Amino acid sequence: MNNRDSLPSVAAWRAAHLVERLGRHLRAGDFDKGLNPAQREALRYLARANRFSKTPAALADYFASSRGTVSQTLIALEGKGLIEKTKSDSDGRSVILALTAMGRAYVAADDETLLARDIESTGEAALIASALEAALRAAIRRRGGREFGVCRTCRHFERDGATRRCALLDEPLTAQDAEAICAEMEAA
Ligand code: SF4
Repeated sequence: MNNRDSLPSVAAWRAAHLVERLGRHLRAGDFDKGLNPAQREALRYLARANRFSKTPAALADYFASSRGTVSQTLIALEGKGLIEKTKSDSDGRSVILALTAMGRAYVAADDETLLARDIESTGEAALIASALEAALRAAIRRRGGREFGVCRTCRHFERDGATRRCALLDEPLTAQDAEAICAEMEAA
């Protein structure tokens, strides 16, 4: 019998159950404040993505969704004044997405933000985040999906004292960039 045939430990079952309950708790508020789940998820993504990943294409990849579906979501969010689109400085053709002040206020009061505060209050936020991230990576790998993750866990992330750099895109990175989600991320 290999590890895959044996049952998980009681602690692992309990953790899986708690994750599922937390997910249900978050989804319970999904239609609050006039947004559907896809629209809320898009706002959450834009609040956490880095500057290379705030595009409709990256959003579609992140949600494993079609460009058409994402486009409808973005049109709705723009119509509600929660996001704005600008042309990319680099090629002038691709669209860059950003939260408006109203979008940022929405995210600040969002259930996921409130849950993050609850997690922070345990004093174990970093530990919880890395354990959940490892579990999520394993789940994505099992399904053959594409990994997204925070920049500082990427194999292209380089740090020399206070200087941070992306070796793939050859761009300097800030401390804030290091904690953001990136569409190009490859696990170290
Ligand atoms: S280091 Fe990796 S995650 Fe960070 S910006 Fe570069 S490609 Fe993206």
